[in-house]
Amino acid sequence: MSQLFETHVEQAVAGYAQVALEQGIDLSAGGLTYAIPRSLEDVVVGSRVVVPLGRSNRRTSGYVVAIDQQTDYDPNKVKSIISLDPNGIRLPADLVELAQWMSGYYCCPLGMVFATMLPAAVKRGAGSVTQTMVTRADSPPPPKSVKLTKLQRRVLEAAEAFANEGDEWVTIKRLADRAGARTTSPVKQLIDKGALLTTQAASIQSRQEQPTYGEAPAQDLQLTASQQLAMERLADSIHTGFSVHLLHGVTGSGKTEVYLRMIEHVQAARPDAGAIVLVPEIALTPQTVARFVGRLDCVAVLHSGLTAAQRHAQWRRIADGEARIVVGARSAIFAPLPGVGVIIVDEEQEHSYKQDQLPRYHARDVAVKRGQMLGIPIVLGSATPSLESYYNATYRNSYHLIELPERVMGLQLPRVELVDMVEERRHRRGVHLLSQRLEHELSRTIASGGQVMLLLNRRGYANYIACPDQRCGWLKSCDYCDVTMVYHKDTRLPTGGNVRCHHCSAEQLLPQHCPQCGRKVSVFGLGTQRVEEELERKFPGVVYQRMDSDVMRTGRDYHDSLERFRCGEVQVLVGTQMIAKGLDFPNVKLVGVISGDTSLHMPDFRAAERTFQLIAQVAGRAGRAGEPGRVIVQTFSPNDAAIQFASRHDFPGFAAHELALREQVALPPLSRMARIVVRDKDHEACFERAQSMWHHLQVLNDAQDKRVRLRGPMPCPIARVAGYHRWQIELIAPPPDAASALQRLLTAMRNERLLVSDAKTAVDVDPVDLL
Ligand code: ADP
Ligand code: ZN
Ligand code: ZN
Repeated sequence: MSQLFETHVEQAVAGYAQVALEQGIDLSAGGLTYAIPRSLEDVVVGSRVVVPLGRSNRRTSGYVVAIDQQTDYDPNKVKSIISLDPNGIRLPADLVELAQWMSGYYCCPLGMVFATMLPAAVKRGAGSVTQTMVTRADSPPPPKSVKLTKLQRRVLEAAEAFANEGDEWVTIKRLADRAGARTTSPVKQLIDKGALLTTQAASIQSRQEQPTYGEAPAQDLQLTASQQLAMERLADSIHTGFSVHLLHGVTGSGKTEVYLRMIEHVQAARPDAGAIVLVPEIALTPQTVARFVGRLDCVAVLHSGLTAAQRHAQWRRIADGEARIVVGARSAIFAPLPGVGVIIVDEEQEHSYKQDQLPRYHARDVAVKRGQMLGIPIVLGSATPSLESYYNATYRNSYHLIELPERVMGLQLPRVELVDMVEERRHRRGVHLLSQRLEHELSRTIASGGQVMLLLNRRGYANYIACPDQRCGWLKSCDYCDVTMVYHKDTRLPTGGNVRCHHCSAEQLLPQHCPQCGRKVSVFGLGTQRVEEELERKFPGVVYQRMDSDVMRTGRDYHDSLERFRCGEVQVLVGTQMIAKGLDFPNVKLVGVISGDTSLHMPDFRAAERTFQLIAQVAGRAGRAGEPGRVIVQTFSPNDAAIQFASRHDFPGFAAHELALREQVALPPLSRMARIVVRDKDHEACFERAQSMWHHLQVLNDAQDKRVRLRGPMPCPIARVAGYHRWQIELIAPPPDAASALQRLLTAMRNERLLVSDAKTAVDVDPVDLL
């Protein structure tokens, strides 16, 4: 009897699957249980499936995260999976494991992590078409007695020839072409006769059209002594499982060459291995990308300019093992590459690696986790490492520090000069964006045929529009955000320009008069447009190009502008941080930083770190060939430590100084931080939510020995954005068990359903943006 029953069950289902639904539902435990019908035996961990949900059995998509033979639920009540994803999408098992970790660590529903891992174009099956494929019904050709036309016989011979070459199934069109038929009708007649068999196969159109990135430079370089040493240490790590290496190399020390050789070494040791290379943004790193594409085989570049169909095609190429090297920005860390042998994160300190919406993950940290799960080496590279990574590589010794302390070919780092703008103002009449010193060097450099880069990390013309009468005190601020609006000059407009909020999309014409007292408004503060204007005034005839996100709308714009600079047509490049990193132009003799202070006074504990990074990075663009370059940094705080250390190219000095300060107040990386932001259009409601959140946190934290320090609730530094009031609570966990203490508290909150990520609540673990 019991045996009978078991056979019955066995016939009905092939097992039970835990399915994480793509939308909503925060189940930290995993997923919902569904039966796998016998007809869907190919369901595996990672399969995307369609399941019924709720009373109405609404069809919804999800991912299988585990498969068991039994279930604790009543088998008669467990619903069944309806079907596999129609496009046959499946995530590799290692990504399923990674998603589970991300869901826990970053407090995000598991299904939403999967939704992020898989490009929308892949889910939609963008560009895929089903085609009829044909093959011969029998191997030996039908005897002469069977009545066939000459053309039909030729078609069968063509099919035979294809099969002999290994193409068992071919399209009707290809077969007709090979047989020399002008139409496909002889093929169709053979299908009707049963002499050809058919099947339907999905294929993706628009396979390629890789963008071109210019020529890769000639190779066979002789490695410098430090590159050689770095390579030896990295090569050793290939056989020792998981390890993280922080490659700290000054600008122009040849880090990219080390990445390339590391990949070549990995592939020599493990021919089936591939690599993932993360760069901050493809469009902004054309030179780096060109080197990877030019040097290595089977490279897939994932950039934002791909069409949906191309994105889908690339994903398939990677998943099928056709592409072995993946180069891309943040989300490329989820490339479904089988056999990842090494992951490289270039410019690892970049904040663009952190996603600012759910899941709020940091691609560098996810890379380290993926590497740990796969047991492979990870290489993080930078001239100005994040203090998090540097701390791990020095004080904590959990990463290995590898240094490239000098530039290639004996080149010198540029000389950095600070210009005190307080002094400058005292001695010079009028408003000058360019100091006398910078003006002098600019004309000298241009006269001698050199090129110049001018950095000002602020868009627009001026960032204050105000009443000139201080007693009135009117200042143009955004109606929806607690920030001032920025004047963008546009001579086509009757008012000479408009004002914009850089935090929401609000925009209006430049007001002419103070709404409070009627005086004519004045504008002050800096912006890249104003640098342009000053260049025109002081250096008429000089060819310059402004590069910021207002004028560089596409990767193409950026590419074309850089090309004009490379070939020497443009003499001066004026830009925001967009021009600060990665660019390698030998003729840049002078770099001018218009204001070294733009990020120095931001209400963010990383303000000094950002200042150091920006100055050090942009300074690194000068003197990359021939004689040493020159850098001039204008500042109102010439004695500030970050600016001083940057002017001496002293990263270790800066790190020691800054880490000591962070230690005193237990800020990251000496502790771990999470930030909870609640927002609401109604201020009272916002405040109350923050209060109650804080109360719950406190109760649970007390129950866990108060391991976490709670700060707040307090208004965010920008207390209102796009009409929403914002309050925050900071959670800071000190060592020794910082990370796990923070996780315990957040998990407890989630389990009690006191903390749910929704439109009004954002949890950010390891935040990089504190405004
Ligand atoms: P980084 O990323 O450290 O700033 P890059 O990798 O961009 O440096 O290298 C700077 C330049 O030096 C590139 O043009 C590169 O081709 C070249 N280069 C790299 N290694 C060597 C070497 N050993 N000898 C000569 N030139 C090199
Ligand atoms: Zn606004
Ligand atoms: Zn006024």
